[in-house]
Amino acid sequence: MSRVNLVGLLPAELEDLAVGLGASRYRGRQLATWIFRKSVFDLEAMTDLPKDFRAALAERAVVEVLEPERLTPSQDGSQKLVFALHGGSRISSVLMPDDDRMTLCVSTQAGCGFACAFCLTGVMGLERNLTAAEIVGQVLAANRLLEGEGRRATHIVFMGMGEPLANYAALVKSLRILTDAKLGVAYSPRRLTVSTVGLVPGIEKLGREDLKVNLAISLHATTDDVRSRLMPVNRSFDLAALMAAVGRYPLASRQRVFFEYVMLEDVNDTADDARRLARLLRGLKAKVNLIPFNDWEGAKFRRPPLARILSFQSVLLDAGITTTVRWSKGEDIGAACGQLRESPALASVSESG
Ligand code: SF4
Repeated sequence: MSRVNLVGLLPAELEDLAVGLGASRYRGRQLATWIFRKSVFDLEAMTDLPKDFRAALAERAVVEVLEPERLTPSQDGSQKLVFALHGGSRISSVLMPDDDRMTLCVSTQAGCGFACAFCLTGVMGLERNLTAAEIVGQVLAANRLLEGEGRRATHIVFMGMGEPLANYAALVKSLRILTDAKLGVAYSPRRLTVSTVGLVPGIEKLGREDLKVNLAISLHATTDDVRSRLMPVNRSFDLAALMAAVGRYPLASRQRVFFEYVMLEDVNDTADDARRLARLLRGLKAKVNLIPFNDWEGAKFRRPPLARILSFQSVLLDAGITTTVRWSKGEDIGAACGQLRESPALASVSESG
């Protein structure tokens, strides 16, 4: 019988497990505190748990946190963590420091099946969904790494390999573990951002979960024609359906939806595109991140000249839309947006979605 990994269980499930082993719910709460609050992953070190309970637990369960197989620091201070998963797939997380902020970008799938034309991860195809333990494990592993510096990740973005909403159950479970203020990892939901290519049913479902996490949309085009060429998912959920779903996503008073827009020369970077984008976002509480394309070998796209990026930005700013240009971190280590790729066969290149 395979043993359950406690890192992927909700605090309430840990309590149920304790009861199933003949102990009280309190023992489950102690377990949650050790794992999620104190970052102790060795059952033997959980000294306030009775010995016989620990022994019974060890027969049924493990506490397994991903171990980075490789750490690659970038010149800009970001750091890529590569993890080897059971079954042979490899995934990455990226730590990106910025003043007091330490943002961790996590993966939700090994590879990705959405085949966006500008994305290196899309070239891999989908290997498999990650489990909730593997998603939460990336956060715990990164925080363990940062512990020595007295820091932890302050913000978590679900923008690494894969499409989070295509792995819905594991995504939502990991969000609940990470945001459980009493017994979980206790992140404020406002510090967590789920990014999607625009899976309309998933956006609607997430909005009904009452998780209050931020939503980011990988938009990348302002017409259905261009978007369908760049992102095949647009053939199933077009811009009108996507923007309608975004408009219904519940937002707190100061919360905004983030729109990611990778800038590709002569594809989506004209003044007309900028004006269309401003029209699409009219009436929404939105923030746009313009991401100059990160080149990778074999890519069919180029980064627009700086002047064009800045004039695109100024059209949006003039329309009253907060717009930043996000120069990707970790470009030199293959950790930048759209560059993430790890697999045994492709280990020399890197990944992200
Ligand atoms: S951009 Fe995101 S959804 Fe598209 S192929 Fe890359 S990882 Fe998948």
